[in-house]
Amino acid sequence: MSEKGKVYLVGAGPGSADLITVRGAELLKTADCIIYDKLANPALLKFARPDAEIIHVPKRIGPGSATQDQINNLLVEKAKLGQTVVRLKGGDPCIFGRIGQELTALTEAGINFEIVPGVTAAVAAAEFAGIILTDRDYSSQVVFITGQEAEGKQKSNIDWNLLAKFSGTIVFYMAMGNLELIAKRLIKSGMEKETPAAVIADATLPSQKTVRASLKQITEKCKENKIGPPAIVVIGAAADKKLNWLANKPLFGRSIVVTRDADSNADFAAKIIAKGGNPIEFTTIKIKPLTQTNTFLQTLAKIAEYDWLIFTSANGVTVLFDALQKLDKDARVFASAKIAAIGSETAAKLSEFAIMADFVPNVFTTKELGKQLISFTNLQNKKVLLLRSQLARQTHGGLASNKLSELLDSTGAEVDNVPVYTAVTIKNKCSRLIEKIERGEIDWLTFASPSSAKGFFEQIPAELVNSSNTRIASIGPVTSEQLKNLGLKVDVQAVEHTIDGLLAAIEKIYK
Ligand code: SAH
Repeated sequence: MSEKGKVYLVGAGPGSADLITVRGAELLKTADCIIYDKLANPALLKFARPDAEIIHVPKRIGPGSATQDQINNLLVEKAKLGQTVVRLKGGDPCIFGRIGQELTALTEAGINFEIVPGVTAAVAAAEFAGIILTDRDYSSQVVFITGQEAEGKQKSNIDWNLLAKFSGTIVFYMAMGNLELIAKRLIKSGMEKETPAAVIADATLPSQKTVRASLKQITEKCKENKIGPPAIVVIGAAADKKLNWLANKPLFGRSIVVTRDADSNADFAAKIIAKGGNPIEFTTIKIKPLTQTNTFLQTLAKIAEYDWLIFTSANGVTVLFDALQKLDKDARVFASAKIAAIGSETAAKLSEFAIMADFVPNVFTTKELGKQLISFTNLQNKKVLLLRSQLARQTHGGLASNKLSELLDSTGAEVDNVPVYTAVTIKNKCSRLIEKIERGEIDWLTFASPSSAKGFFEQIPAELVNSSNTRIASIGPVTSEQLKNLGLKVDVQAVEHTIDGLLAAIEKIYK
């Protein structure tokens, strides 16, 4: 799908990392080298191979400046080494993307290249501000203009007289430094002072801000609201329209930190984005399977003897099936056993392997799992296998699975309590998150397990969070207990102990 010794000029989309094209994302996954702009969202680098070389090049480069030459040389040099190079540019690479020189350099060096379009800022900013750029009734034409031409240039390429008479929608890029001058020129050239205008900054990002005013007043309004670049300026009847679709999303504008393992974080982040929020992924733990241990292998050898298998997390399910697969086995090795799952997420994970849980309690905690299971079925003389996290051995608020094991034991069951995975703390770069918390830019920290709470606060000081306006959401009582032990106040606890339940609890605060 990608070729060696080739440069892909890829549009990163306007801001939000999920607005890149599928093709763009696929190329990022295969690139040997990624050279990215300031406006390309760094979150896109999550697609990069772990061994990819990543080079950040600054945005503001004058034509012919040393830096631009350096970029050109870099592209040529990397491609000549036989690498797949992705040159990632904000928005669309060919809209005010200063792409000309890079293409010339590549062509002169005989390097193959491909252009992958992106969603350009004008289009996305308008849509995310509820502005429709074209409309049968009021705008049959749109023009995209650079706002940096307005000043200085002896002979401007912009025909201000023509523009002042333009009957459609005018969109300026890079106009924040010259907004006052632009408005004055348009008015001087005959445009109506009261023409509607809108400025959208940080479009599609959680920090997006929109202001609307007449052409005459728009500069003042931007100053009042501290609107700075990057921003898009829309002028014309279209700017007056307001479709509030985005603000209707329940977590619109909320920054929410997710603190699980990398895979779970990605799923969680997608749910937050779907609700209009801004997920910040902070990986605290890595799931380490314990399926090579003698205890586990011995258990597996006799797994057909069990009457019940109990899963207390989706991770336990994944780890077990990975281990089976490596041994060329499948679920038929425990075909006669009944299956219990702690909650809907664990049950859903089982169903991915075509296993329908025989029992799921109606409250998703270890305690309820035990209590309800023993009234659901008679476990006397039954062989029960508890597949769990090693960390569950530590008592979190007296609800851990060794308690579960004791409870099941007391009913006359023969219980084997086997750890199938553990969670290892992962070290992160913390400075950016710390700064954001200090600046009051983080609305929520979310915790879906005691181990992620522990992993997080080993890296981020609890006092910092306690003295900020950042709030804490916990998935359930065991995690809340851990947070309290770490010296934190839990602002909300999920009623249903799942990721969906956690988000529902946060949403409820804003209702
Ligand atoms: N190639 C880019 C444009 C680069 S020029 C594209 O297609 O979008 C840089 C200008 O793009 C900025 O000055 C600003 O006007 C606009 N821009 C880029 N990202 C933006 C964003 N998230 N919100 C508002 N404007 C943005």
